[in-house]
Amino acid sequence: MKKGKMFIVSGPSGVGKGTVIKALLELRKDVCMSVSATTRPPRPGEMDGVQYYFLDRETFQDWVARDEFLEHMEYVGNCYGTPKRYVDTAMEKGQNVLLEIDVQGALEIAVKRPETVLIFILPPSWEELERRLVLRGTDSPEKIQKRLQRAKEEFRAAQAYQYFVVNDTVEEAVRELDAIMTAEHCRPGARTEAMLGGL
Ligand code: 5GP
Repeated sequence: MKKGKMFIVSGPSGVGKGTVIKALLELRKDVCMSVSATTRPPRPGEMDGVQYYFLDRETFQDWVARDEFLEHMEYVGNCYGTPKRYVDTAMEKGQNVLLEIDVQGALEIAVKRPETVLIFILPPSWEELERRLVLRGTDSPEKIQKRLQRAKEEFRAAQAYQYFVVNDTVEEAVRELDAIMTAEHCRPGARTEAMLGGL
């Protein structure tokens, strides 16, 4: 059976990552999202093993000590990490695993797993990103400026990414993501191994 690949999707707050990923998951049945572990308590409606694996701090530290995470970080007092086991099991089953994480976490994973495909979602322009953040209506003007600044910093840090998808329309962005996934499976490696064996 074809082995799955790991894809990391990063991009600024407000660019529409969530919408694009949701549409991709509906389009491709060979794609699943990685489930992270966290020490934060579940929010209403969240279930263990679905949104996150909810762990106590001791268990999380134990997983860190046992090298169970591809990467982990602390964010406003809670720990978050990508469990290796979940990702590897899904890939063995032929699933392409999608990780939605920030550039720093992505670059950390890319060192450990250089075969990981890094994709950054861009807005059509910085002005358009600002417009979308304003339209979302969840942030004050100061916070929007901070998010824009952060978005530009992340983009600068993402120059080692292999692909940049522009989210002008969701349909076009999904088409690009789908094409990247298909193309990545046409690379030499798993594709040519069996044929080389028969030479
Ligand atoms: P929340 O508590 O709102 O679900 O997530 C808080 C932050 O943690 C978000 O920015 C989310 O993207 C990030 N996050 C969730 N899981 C992971 C993970 O496994 N690794 C990293 N680096 N960040 C994560």
